[in-house]
Amino acid sequence: MRKVVILGTGPAGLTAAIYLARADMQPLIIEGSQPGGQLTMTTEVENFPGFIEGVMGPELMDNMRKQAERFGAEFKRGWVNSVDLSNGKPPYRLQVEGLGEIETQSLIISTGASAKMLNIPGEKENIGRGVSTCATCDGFFFRGKKVVVIGGGDSAMEEANFLTKFASEVHIVHRRETLRASKIMQNRAKQNEKITWSLNKTPIEVLAKENKVTGLKIKDNETGEEEIIETDGIFLAIGHLPSTAFLNQQVKTDQTGYISVKPGSTQTSVTGVFACGDVQDSKYRQAITAAGTGCMAALDAERFVEGNAVHDWSQSL
Ligand code: NAP
Repeated sequence: MRKVVILGTGPAGLTAAIYLARADMQPLIIEGSQPGGQLTMTTEVENFPGFIEGVMGPELMDNMRKQAERFGAEFKRGWVNSVDLSNGKPPYRLQVEGLGEIETQSLIISTGASAKMLNIPGEKENIGRGVSTCATCDGFFFRGKKVVVIGGGDSAMEEANFLTKFASEVHIVHRRETLRASKIMQNRAKQNEKITWSLNKTPIEVLAKENKVTGLKIKDNETGEEEIIETDGIFLAIGHLPSTAFLNQQVKTDQTGYISVKPGSTQTSVTGVFACGDVQDSKYRQAITAAGTGCMAALDAERFVEGNAVHDWSQSL
């Protein structure tokens, strides 16, 4: 039986792996379909402490992984189909595609969150044909073309600015008059001459011809008037959903699906099961906060396995 299994390899999971490997807990880390998490889809990270000139997201994640491996952390690729936490105490069992059943004394959930979709006609069937959730991955394909970015948060501003490197015009569509993004990100987008705006408009349909996106139909929230924006690409930047489906509701979550943890710890509603990073954080969602909670989860799991847990908070969640 494993002492500790970590699910997910974003900054939270990798920080937990570094701490647990250094503590000689021989952690097993299971990597899902997007090793490295959301930071592998971003370009420059300017706000992770310690990097004066910034650092590229994929490089930061690669370094964290190598740091964990240096201390003996074991990485395996696999998809967790289900977990059995029904006893409420270890051993916990994981069914992992490609790896079979794994038993563990403690579990750290750091599975992050995935991109939200609009659920409008034409959207899903045109993913990869002009609809994208990752400007960093797909921006290159839109050199000299016109693209639309949907959303009013930091991601939308960042993606729009990034896309101006390739696209001839970037049009931001946001459902309200005011933007959610931080002032500095808003200002960068507003000062960029390649960026144009449709505010207070709701996207209602993705239009395509011969398997290629041709436009986005939007509706004015005040007048109800509909219009079509001609475009070659549509980038969704409307936030993320926590990845918790495999838990099958065995761990308590809030109404939006984020795992509930006892404030000031990473303890979930199940003893010996800990959550860190974006899967339990709908508020801060930063690489550094994810890394911080990853460290907390490692210390919580180590104390639990060694029988030194000070409090069993799971009972009061
Ligand atoms: P977010 O802050 O939740 O913003 C999502 C945006 O999408 C909002 O403007 C929201 O509109 C809109 N939206 C949501 N659902 C929609 C729907 N169904 N239809 C149309 N519009 C919809 O998400 P985010 O921008 O991904 O940022 C997440 C976190 O990461 C934030 O804390 C952010 O600060 C951080 N972040 C930081 C950086 C950076 O510092 N470099 C970069 C990216 C992200 P409303 O405003 O009307 O709700």
